[in-house]
Amino acid sequence: MSSIAENIARVQERLAKALQRAERSPNDARLLAVSKTFSADIVQEAYDAGLRSFGENRVQELCDKAPKLPSDCEWHLIGQLQRNKVRPALEHAGWLHGVDSLALAQRIQRLADDMKVAPTFLLEVNISGEESKFGLAPEDVEAVLTALPEGPGCCRGLMTIAPLGASESELHAVFAGLRKLRDQLAVRCGTALPELSMGMSGDMEIAVAEGATIVRIGTAIFGQR
Ligand SMILES: *Cc1c(COP(=O)(O)O)cnc(C)c1O
Repeated sequence: MSSIAENIARVQERLAKALQRAERSPNDARLLAVSKTFSADIVQEAYDAGLRSFGENRVQELCDKAPKLPSDCEWHLIGQLQRNKVRPALEHAGWLHGVDSLALAQRIQRLADDMKVAPTFLLEVNISGEESKFGLAPEDVEAVLTALPEGPGCCRGLMTIAPLGASESELHAVFAGLRKLRDQLAVRCGTALPELSMGMSGDMEIAVAEGATIVRIGTAIFGQR
């Protein structure tokens, strides 16, 4: 077995155990392999080990890499999306995790209509309020959701990145904060927001305990960048 295949097995085991401890069912959270900075050949190893969902944080890298992998891969853009890069992003990514303004969401919907694609996007929320972070302030998410028209692309949930170096209790607070915000918004806006994209290599267990449905794992699968 390649070391990447071994890493994947270990991560899947961690995910399964975390779900079990949280008394959630085995399919309640899925693994997104964050392949940024790794070459198509290395991503192919993860594909050969059974993974199909890959995350990139830069549009250019996504556009270079995606065509080199089999067409049944599902690509997620997990980084910031500039308005002038929406079209190339939609050519490859079915999922956009870093949507952080109404203008951007509307542009995604407009171009998706034009390109006849139906992307899934998530609104990125800055739960911890760190100044260095991207994302909507929690109190601004409702206005974005309410203003979004029904469109070919739809918002399916929320995404957050925990602050670097946060303690275990801070991590619980951030991830629980995203879940509670989702629960409130689902009621107030009458929209199902089933997806919570949260948790990375170092904190996936905590994120799963707090309700993550997608964990974004790079280092624990591909090694240090
Ligand atoms: C790089 C990255 C990850 C993966 O982080 P690891 O700690 O390597 O697992 C997850 N989410 C986002 C948004 C990233 O940019």
